[in-house]
Amino acid sequence: MLKVGVLAFQGAFSEHEQALEKAFQTMNNTETDSELSLQITEVRVPSHLDGLDGLIIPGGESTTMSIFLNKNNFKQKLRSMIEGVNGRRTIVWGTCAGQILLSNTVLCQKTGSQQMIGGVDITTSRNTYGRQCESFESEISTHHEDLQQDGVSVCRGIFIRAPGVVSIDDSSVITLATIGDENTGNKRIVAVQQGNIMTTSFHPELTEDTRWHTFFLDQILKLRTTSQSCARSNENI
Ligand code: GLN
Repeated sequence: MLKVGVLAFQGAFSEHEQALEKAFQTMNNTETDSELSLQITEVRVPSHLDGLDGLIIPGGESTTMSIFLNKNNFKQKLRSMIEGVNGRRTIVWGTCAGQILLSNTVLCQKTGSQQMIGGVDITTSRNTYGRQCESFESEISTHHEDLQQDGVSVCRGIFIRAPGVVSIDDSSVITLATIGDENTGNKRIVAVQQGNIMTTSFHPELTEDTRWHTFFLDQILKLRTTSQSCARSNENI
């Protein structure tokens, strides 16, 4: 069983749930493990985080979300999921406002910087691409073979008052996707991964393309396989 939670008090959480179901169905058709099932939890209180293998923090409004998370004592549990407790780590994926919440450094036009959950060594700037009315769709180049679909590495992304990755602040952060063109100097990083955390500046849940949700579920399966083989090798010591 894959237990996935979606933070569900603001933003496009139901779209994430639908995309997860769809991605899981396509995966399950190709996986040999027919025993595998997916359980999705709408996370509204900290106890809903218990036992999750994966968590999605959707888009929304990051200030409102961080106030809600702080007021309702989510922060400590979220940090434990990110850092790992008793050897158990969770794959955490933040989209848009979720990226802002998971960034270790956040630049904010209004206050200079903001206190978030953190977890990924990137500097994120809010509303990098402009206001709501300047939201746009763009072709995205993916840079990980598991993000190719039928051999195609390009997909579309919807950017809504999207945050930008200003800098990658540790060499262990991998760039998963970019937009723009290096030759014209307007290339920008729009998705990263560092260990068990991934972020996307755009909204994959708002398109029909389920590759990002498949990638997320795959990361959970990979982490599970690694943990199981580590546990087995410890038993043998
Ligand atoms: N700009 C928003 C913020 O700062 C995020 C927008 C989104 O999640 N679509 O929180």
